[in-house]
Amino acid sequence: MLRGTLPIRGAAGRAAAGSESMKSAATTSVRYEHFIGGASVAPSSGEYLPSENPYTGEVWAEIARGSRADAEAAVEAAHAAFIGPWAALTASERGRLLWRLGDLVAANAPRLAEIEQRDNGKLAAEVVTQVRYMADYFRYYAGLADKVQSDVIPSDKKGVFAYTRYEPKGVVAIITPWNSPLTLTSWKLAPALAAGCTAVVKPSEFTSASMVELARLFGEAGFPPGVVNVVTGLGPEVGEALVTHRHVAHIGFTGGSAAGRKIYELAARNFKTVTLELGGKSPNIVFDDADLGQAVKGVVSGIFAAAGQSCQAGSRLLVQRSIHDEFVARLVDFMRDVKLGDPTRPETQIGPIATRPQFEKVMDYIRIAQDEGATCVFGGKSRPDLGAGQFVEPTIFTGVRNDMRIAQEEVFGPVLAVIPFEDEAEAVAIGNDVAYGLAAAVWTQNLRRAMSMVERLQAGTVWVNNYRATSFTSPFGGYKESGIGRESGTETIKEYLHTKCVWISTDLDVPNPFVRR
Ligand code: NAD
Repeated sequence: MLRGTLPIRGAAGRAAAGSESMKSAATTSVRYEHFIGGASVAPSSGEYLPSENPYTGEVWAEIARGSRADAEAAVEAAHAAFIGPWAALTASERGRLLWRLGDLVAANAPRLAEIEQRDNGKLAAEVVTQVRYMADYFRYYAGLADKVQSDVIPSDKKGVFAYTRYEPKGVVAIITPWNSPLTLTSWKLAPALAAGCTAVVKPSEFTSASMVELARLFGEAGFPPGVVNVVTGLGPEVGEALVTHRHVAHIGFTGGSAAGRKIYELAARNFKTVTLELGGKSPNIVFDDADLGQAVKGVVSGIFAAAGQSCQAGSRLLVQRSIHDEFVARLVDFMRDVKLGDPTRPETQIGPIATRPQFEKVMDYIRIAQDEGATCVFGGKSRPDLGAGQFVEPTIFTGVRNDMRIAQEEVFGPVLAVIPFEDEAEAVAIGNDVAYGLAAAVWTQNLRRAMSMVERLQAGTVWVNNYRATSFTSPFGGYKESGIGRESGTETIKEYLHTKCVWISTDLDVPNPFVRR
């Protein structure tokens, strides 16, 4: 997965080797450095990585290839801010800065979205909406910053006054993937800053540009230098250096299971806390009493929006056997005229797969499903005729058993596995019989059934008669191998806070020192 390295212009003057180097250099026009201590900083290695537009295949930018030294510089800057100017602000002052940042995000949303979209190939219409909405994440936590109240404990011990204090953990390392870089960063950054932490962000090497652009807005909003830093580069080179740095207290990560497991293991060595948002294999469950027209749209939104490149994708469609054939026919009918193409055009409904390795992975899973004996009733092929050829047709497999790999493993692409069930008990059994537990949805008009399913499904989010909604007000995260901790909502701020308990004696005498009180 190591990407081609561009020859450098300027900086330390060393040209790195890489198969794509010369081809890429001709089309590169923008260079992104790290953002450390409020300033652009060239990578100590002098090396850069190409950033590709997945629709056109063009290298449109180059990003700094960070090293351990760069990661250390960023953490030092974040630590200096944490114990310095950031600590000197009251929670209300932090909140005001976050509010200003929210306004700047809103004002810059079209520009930030255009940059992000160029890197990950998502529909422009969706990315601009996402980035605008992100402003509200910062505003929500701006409001929360000075509302974290501690408790006076009604202690059972006589002669003491006991209370809690919430204190920021310190420097937070934020490591994010390529599917929604800015949104997934703001889910972590906004509560971390509201809590009084500082941060070093390591965006995906495939989609770093938008985060560097966002970082520049923090200075404009009035944040002290070093409160938010960005180091770009590869996971094993920069990400691991952040996770293991002694001044990093907490790691907020969204991404795949392999990297998540590695980060958790590294963090455990020094007992650091983590928030992990990993993958999913979420069941989208349609009962025969559902409004089938709405359920079809819900299934489409669950798996084909963003070309299925979403952790919460409803990649297993569980359909009650009595309506299986009719529902699949309606779904195929709905998808027949779907428009694949240029993600910047408003009429496009499905864009390219964001990265070449991911494209290959999705095509591998289509072959795996066929080899396992599933029946492809729609799609199933790539589209080399579109853009740079990184397109996969929306694909529907029927005849899937829940023990097949296509039903158990996260594809992260527009591939739906359809599994029939008889009744509620079987829907619950199949729905829960997977390593993941990020989300689930239930389509029914029967309130008792909906409530009962909500109780029995092992998932961090359950939608009833809708799919894919998330909000800054609503906790999001997984059961089982989908992760640890929650993002969004008021409780999330505690992920970034230590609870300190204070005991003040109101007695004049220290009691018997040899006996615990
Ligand atoms: P990834 O997990 O490999 O990378 C996510 C982030 O972690 C990137 O910034 C990466 O550089 C960093 N990273 C990787 N290895 C690391 C390490 N050892 N230490 C520290 N940081 C490390 O995800 P990806 O390459 O972007 O995609 C791989 C798979 O992850 C996809 O196929 C998909 O299934 C899944 N994925 C999940 C989500 C999600 O939202 N849950 C998002 C994107 C991808």
